[in-house]
Amino acid sequence: MGDIGREGEAAEAVDDPVGVLAGALAGGAVEVVDLTQPLSEATPVIELPPHLVPIPPLRVHAGPRYGDLPDAWNWLELAEHIGTHVDAPIHWFTGRDGLDMASVPAGRLVGPAVVLDRRAEVAADPEDLLSVEDVLAWQREHGPLPEGGWLLVRTDWDRRADDRELFLNGGVTPGFDAECARWLAHESPLSGVGVQTVGIDAGRAHGFEPPFPMHYHLLGAGKLGLTQLAALDRLPVRGALLVVAPLRLVGGTGSPARVLAFVPGGDGASA
Ligand code: MN
Repeated sequence: MGDIGREGEAAEAVDDPVGVLAGALAGGAVEVVDLTQPLSEATPVIELPPHLVPIPPLRVHAGPRYGDLPDAWNWLELAEHIGTHVDAPIHWFTGRDGLDMASVPAGRLVGPAVVLDRRAEVAADPEDLLSVEDVLAWQREHGPLPEGGWLLVRTDWDRRADDRELFLNGGVTPGFDAECARWLAHESPLSGVGVQTVGIDAGRAHGFEPPFPMHYHLLGAGKLGLTQLAALDRLPVRGALLVVAPLRLVGGTGSPARVLAFVPGGDGASA
């Protein structure tokens, strides 16, 4: 079986494709893997240059309790760009005329995912930058990037997520070089690109030309960024289906998201 989620072929192959998927989920032939970091007041937030207003951490305020009634609710101070989250095109000046979180078509949020393993390079150099040649080499081994899908770069950076200092690492974090950002934006068929670090750009990308090239190119091309993913070690190189579920915020430049992957095989235990 090739990529899950190819429209047409799969629909023609069976009368009840959703029923087949439901059966596979119930029987464990497909499992659901949660790629979302838990979101709490301790969730690390990206550190901006000192001349910019910082993005605040999550604050959870207890709402009123109604006497003996069982109801309870909280209210949140919630930055758009916190935890596992989506970057919308309007987040960057190059995408200002593009999609906000409310207008991202639902179909753009569901698609095949492929995983590029960058662990070794990042272990050797935490400022490692992915290049076009790296992506082309991956394609020679694993096939083309999926149409309307997601490229997820596995660094296992999520293993640092419980330690703010380790996770932010003083801004020393891996990413993409500027040409790779341009290529992924304009010469790939992807819907979006996902990473495990605090942002889609490398920690030192402020010094690139253009600065923050993933924001500049990817969001400028109307594509989506996805950050702070967990558990990419549970995904195959290809064959998973990604479901990205951010809030439908009107005017939203981003949103925290629950990110799930449908993964074939496994032991049947849901994450
Ligand atoms: Mn963001």
